[in-house]
Order: sequence, then structure tokens, then C-alpha cells
Amino acid sequence: MAAEHSLMSETIPRRSGTGPETIPRYASYPTPASFHCGVGAERRDAWIASLPAGARVAIYLHIPFCKRICWFCHSRTQAVRRTDVVERYLDALVGEMARVARVLPSGVTIERVAWGGGSPTSLSPGQIRRLARESAALLPLGAVREFLAEVDPATAVHAAYEALAGVGLTAAAIGVQDLGPEVQAAIGRWQPASAVENAVAVLRAVGVEAIRVEQVYGLPKQTEASVARTAAFVASLGPERVAVTDYIHVPRIARRQQMIRVELLPGRPARQAQFAAAARVLVEAGYVQVGIDHFARPGSRLDLAARTDGVRRGFLGYEPRGEAALIGFGAGAISRLPQGFVANAGGTEDYCRQVAREGAAVVRGVALGLEDRVRARAIDLLLAGCDLDLGAIGTEFGDFATVLRSGCADAAAEYPGRVRFENGCLGLAPGDPELPRLVARFLDGRKAATGVGHKRG
Ligand code: SF4
Repeated sequence: MAAEHSLMSETIPRRSGTGPETIPRYASYPTPASFHCGVGAERRDAWIASLPAGARVAIYLHIPFCKRICWFCHSRTQAVRRTDVVERYLDALVGEMARVARVLPSGVTIERVAWGGGSPTSLSPGQIRRLARESAALLPLGAVREFLAEVDPATAVHAAYEALAGVGLTAAAIGVQDLGPEVQAAIGRWQPASAVENAVAVLRAVGVEAIRVEQVYGLPKQTEASVARTAAFVASLGPERVAVTDYIHVPRIARRQQMIRVELLPGRPARQAQFAAAARVLVEAGYVQVGIDHFARPGSRLDLAARTDGVRRGFLGYEPRGEAALIGFGAGAISRLPQGFVANAGGTEDYCRQVAREGAAVVRGVALGLEDRVRARAIDLLLAGCDLDLGAIGTEFGDFATVLRSGCADAAAEYPGRVRFENGCLGLAPGDPELPRLVARFLDGRKAATGVGHKRG
């Protein structure tokens, strides 16, 4: 399951003691709710063409196919059995890369490549090799330091792992969710511990050492005990990072989630306790918390990035802060560029048709104004687990920093005891990964666009 890429910062209805509420994900600011059709492929091309020589960028390829469809999953995916459907999609991906390659300035370095979805392991070995070969023929991938793919441990075959390793895979992301059979039945994803252990063993055997795990809390039938048990199992695998993320219930967008029984979803206090249980187990196992919900093995890339340049919350979890852009390819993919964001057509058919017609499938986006940049920086800091010092923001943005002041004061008034605003500094109580997003709403200057008001969490 992709981190937050194709769904990203859409709003998330939740159950709580006071009923459903809606919170943007804030994987980007402005959120996708502010994207509009006035920003299209030509603007995207111009933004890419103006990347300065020496800029470091990442690319993301969305593979929207899976061998199975899990009820809890909010990612934009489909089950396919027909090779021609996949081949046509790969044609479109290559077509989109060709257009970007024509405008990408020389001297820009692609440092990270991620294949997400969906399940890249649903591709055949031949399709994996073709996609890697054609990507490398079009884009300057010689300086890539990290090549990550998401894998489905219950359906991936050995040949897929070998093919990925053969084209240079360095890291794999595995969704574990919860080991409890009753939880797995409630979310429509069967996955015994042995399948995960086997996937990790095979990945390491073919030379993919960097294993990442996504553990989910807030699932139906989940308990503090099942979350802690799962975290202990995850730690025993020795992954380089663990993301402990909350279940996102969006049945109107991800219709498969209509299979989830809403009355079984834990409320906010239970979710907080579940996150705390996972965090406790991982920290006791030697992991270091990074940002609001990630845990890094000491000495891993994430740990080092957090201790040097710092990290920012992006569509793929935490990313190195120094990257100038993330260029997304595929259905529903979003690109982050210094001037703004652009999003591709979400439907696979629409995406393929548009790329066949014009070499691109950008359907909407947003350009950043100065006020957006100030608010984005503030929200970025909150989601990286940092305090917000308006003095430091003022040093960077001048008088524009004052647009944050009233939002900081309102957030402190809304969440007494958990949020403090003193001497121009906004600080949040630790240990609650939902609190930064709740507070971010107060710094969001485009709430009218998201339709989100201030509601108590
Ligand atoms: S395998 Fe299941 S969880 Fe993973 S992307 Fe596909 S539907 Fe989502």
C-alpha cells in the first residue's frame, strides 16, 4: 500500500467520541482540495525545466495493480489478470517519462526512485525489467542512491524479487498491518507472519538489505495488545524503518472500504493507546522515533537524515529535506516542484488515454504564493514533530510570518494542556500523531477550499 501518495491529503472522516470529523492529511500544503484545472502539463513542464543545475530530485512511479484487493486499502489500485492492460499502462508510463525527459535540465540529479502502488510485485519479471530498462534509457538514473519498491509479501513470487534485485532495487516496503487473524479477517487481508518472514528472508537473500515496514493502527478489532504483539514481531525482523500509521477510512473514495464495519473501528482514545503501545515496543527494541509516527534503526538513512539536513513529511512518508522536487508518474501521481504541485488523472484508463494523446496526464495543480510557502513551512515543521518558532519563520519570510500568529493562538485555546503558544513559539505535547494535523488546520489559509472547519479532536 502506498504511503500517502495517490490518496495523500484528501480529508479523512473519523470516528471519535463526538462523531465523525474530517482532517486533511497535510502530506502537501496546499492540500489536493485546493488543486484546480488552471494548472496543467505545460506549467508542469515549465516548472521542471527551471530546476537549477545541481538540484537533487526523486521520482515516483505508480503501479496501480495488485494480485488481490484488501478491503482496508485506500490506495488507487485494481486487480488485473490481463497482460495487455498492464502493458498498455507501462506504455503510458514510458510516454510520460519521455515528455519529462525532454524538459529535465542537465545537471539535475535523480537520487531516489520509488515504485509504489498498488503492488509493483504484481508485475511479471519481464515487465519489471522492461520498466527499469526504459526508465534508465529516458532519465538520468546513474546517480540513484535509493531504489525502493513496495511489495505484497503474501502474493509476490520469488522471480519478482529476483527481477527487482536484478534491476538495482535497494529497499523494499512491506505492509504488515496487524498479525491478529481476527483483524486480518475484518480488513480482508490474509497475511500470516510466516509470509512476511519469508519475504524478508528472500529480499535479503537477493541483496535487498533495506527493509521498511508499515504497521497500521486503528483497524477494526484491533487492540492495544494486538498492536504491541505486531510491533514486537516487526522489530524482530530488524527493518531499517517502521511507519506506524493510522487507518484512513474513506469509503466514498475507496469503495472497497464499505466492507469494513464502521462500528468496529476504535475511537480516538483507543487509537492513541494503540499508537503508544507500538511506540513503546519499538523504542524498547532500540528504534529512534523520527517525526510524528516513524521509527528508525540507529544509523539508518532515515536516522542520519533526521540528524543532519532534517526530514520533511511528503507523499512517501518522511523524505530528506534537501530534495528540490518529487516528480510523480502514473495514474493519480502528484508531483511536488519548487513552484507548486500538479496531479495526474486518477483513473487508469483516463491516464493512458491522455498520455497517448499528449504525452502527459496532468489534470490539476496549484501554484504556491508567498503566504502558501509560509504556511507550508509551518505545517511541515509540525508534521516533522518540531516546535514552531515564529521568530525563525520571520527570519526566513519577514513580515509574512505574522499570518501564522492568530492560528497559533487559536490552536492553543482549542487544545489547552496539549498545545502551548508562548513567546512566539508553538509547542505540541508529544506522543499523539493526530495532534499535529489537528493543529495544522489552524494554520491552513485555504480551509474554505478544503471545506474543513475547526473541530475538536
Ligand atoms: S495488496 Fe492490498 S494493501 Fe497492498 S496496495 Fe494492493 S489492495 Fe492495497
